[in-house]
Amino acid sequence: MNRVNTILQQKSIRITPMRQLVLRHILQEEAVFGLNKLEEALPKSDRITLFRTLKTFEEKGIIHSIPNGTSEVKYALCKEHCGPGQHLDFHPHFLCIKCDHIECIESVNIPKLHIPEGYIGLEFNLTIKGICIQCEN
Ligand SMILES: [Zn+2]
Ligand SMILES: [Zn+2]
Ligand SMILES: [Zn+2]
Repeated sequence: MNRVNTILQQKSIRITPMRQLVLRHILQEEAVFGLNKLEEALPKSDRITLFRTLKTFEEKGIIHSIPNGTSEVKYALCKEHCGPGQHLDFHPHFLCIKCDHIECIESVNIPKLHIPEGYIGLEFNLTIKGICIQCEN
């Protein structure tokens, strides 16, 4: 069985040609991607379907979204331990202010944050803005 189907089955996602197509593309391409680029790369698929597919992938723990301060949501592939309704991507994201490069900083673990009693934290994220290694040189 190929990797695409294996991942879809692992995350209990019903296999459809569209989901296979999108996931195959994500696995081949660069680590972080946005809807616009995906749409360009897969011209035969319409934006709504693509968006829904990404939402499903996000809900099931295949990809996680990266808040980046623009209207276009960026996504990155999750590690295997993420699953339906549960993301364990506790790493910061780096955003280069010069070239807009975004990446997962997997080597850094965000420590558990303690919020005041009575508050319910639903998601938290850490984005580091700065200058990437390419732009530094
Ligand atoms: Zn995840
Ligand atoms: Zn850069
Ligand atoms: Zn990430």
